[in-house]
Amino acid sequence: MAERTEPADWVRCAGCGALVYGKRWTRTLHVCPDCGHHGRLTAPERLEQLLDPGTAESIGPVPALHDPLGFVDSRPYAERLERARADTGLPEAVLCAAGTVEGQPCVAAVMDFRFLGGSLGCAVGALITHAARTSLERRVPLVLVTASGGARMQEGVLSLMQMAKTAQAMAELDEAGVLTVSIVTDPTYGGVAASFATLADVILAEPGARMGFAGPRVIEQTTGEKLPEGFQTAEFLLAHGMVDDVVPRVGLRPVLGRLLGLRAVTGPLPPGDGAAILRAADDLVGRDPWHSVRLARHPERPTTLDYVRRLVDDFQELHGDRLAEDCPAIVAGTGRLAGTPVVLIGHHKGGPDLGERRRRNFGMAQPSGYRKAARLMRLAAKLGLPVVTLIDTPGANPGPEAETGGQAAAIAENLRLMARLPVPIVAVLIGEGGSGGALALAVADRVLVCANGTYSVISPEGCAAILWKDPQAAPAAAASLRLHPGDLLSLGVVDGIVPEPPAGAHQDHAAAADLLEAAVTAALHELIPWDPDRLRADRRARFHRYGTDTGAAAADWSQP
Ligand SMILES: [Zn+2]
Repeated sequence: MAERTEPADWVRCAGCGALVYGKRWTRTLHVCPDCGHHGRLTAPERLEQLLDPGTAESIGPVPALHDPLGFVDSRPYAERLERARADTGLPEAVLCAAGTVEGQPCVAAVMDFRFLGGSLGCAVGALITHAARTSLERRVPLVLVTASGGARMQEGVLSLMQMAKTAQAMAELDEAGVLTVSIVTDPTYGGVAASFATLADVILAEPGARMGFAGPRVIEQTTGEKLPEGFQTAEFLLAHGMVDDVVPRVGLRPVLGRLLGLRAVTGPLPPGDGAAILRAADDLVGRDPWHSVRLARHPERPTTLDYVRRLVDDFQELHGDRLAEDCPAIVAGTGRLAGTPVVLIGHHKGGPDLGERRRRNFGMAQPSGYRKAARLMRLAAKLGLPVVTLIDTPGANPGPEAETGGQAAAIAENLRLMARLPVPIVAVLIGEGGSGGALALAVADRVLVCANGTYSVISPEGCAAILWKDPQAAPAAAASLRLHPGDLLSLGVVDGIVPEPPAGAHQDHAAAADLLEAAVTAALHELIPWDPDRLRADRRARFHRYGTDTGAAAADWSQP
């Protein structure tokens, strides 16, 4: 095994070989203080680290020795099982308990790699399913900690069936709206990776933990090619959109506590500040539209992450589309906005630093960004959480990668998904609302625009180049496109305007954030008591009206 207790109370780190004093090793949760290597934990150690002290309640029947095939290799399987039991003191490769994490109740199923490599046999499948059913009965989240080499060969094809069985158990929790979280530890391979480990709503991975279906040795032997450094590690998986976050062991309890505490608020709620949303554009009358365009693009204008830092408590950013990558131009996660648990999704331009703006692709999403947003919206629907979107993008992505990645379909999918979403959606155009890239986050029950925001089918420069044949005509195009908040309000495309500090949001981020918070809270408090049918009917009617009776489409605020 990786770590071994030395004759005295010393432990040798499997990462760097350093000797760490035993008590310190315990204090650092078996993470090397020198190199950060995360040592393997037994299931009882993991439960002790994860759950609040004294809260673990053992659940799940002790499985009988199960040898369905009467399997024998160099030794009978039954003998190997008994040996594993004696060596580990565990009845099987997974240990289940109910308890709390940071005071939040959950059911935990924790795998132990020492027990026949954490292999997925019939008893493991039964115990995972039992944990999921307990979680379902008690309506508390399920936390899975995985460590496995894959299926248990000695149980033949019945072992394979455990993948389907546990996937079914996860589906039942999806249908019931119960949160599932998996914590991927090193190593997680084969049947476990291709079932419950990756079916969780949120997938966290410990630094350096490897996960995949086929192991690296199998891949190298099959292809004859050397795999790149870091292949299948947590960091690789994060970059490729497969996990939500890489969380060092010491951070797992706080992150879990945040996630497990997400609960839908149900109405009725106190009405928000009615004056927080302007329903008339008197202050903006006569404003030069080009002025709005310039302010909407101001590099010091607050970004989505600026607002998140100021307004969202316990924000947990979630990454990845679970397909290929994590788009840095769209930020998404869970948290509490003015006390209300929400899923927040927004374009992120990156702020004043040019390097960061480049890294964020100036807020122009890849298809994976829209897919990440869609994944988080489905999570919101499952958990009954409202969605708040902050829109700030020059437009869809003009690069070839976005096209090969299926940009058009990714945008289209979001439009359809949002039309059906059973939870409230509040969208705010905090800066530029450019074309389909903006609309992909804006099919909402309430659409607001900041006083210096814009919303347009194309950039004024693009429009000027095509129709005026002269990019210099951009200010004229901006006027003709009617992209300015006052015009958007009169067209009924937005329901209201979020006021900004007198000199613009870029001059006073704190004041801008307060104004945004008041407006979003007012909209959320109005919508949260609505049932899903009313939300969807109203949302569909809203978008159906556009173009048929322009000017009358804005929300009817007089209705309770
Ligand atoms: Zn080390």
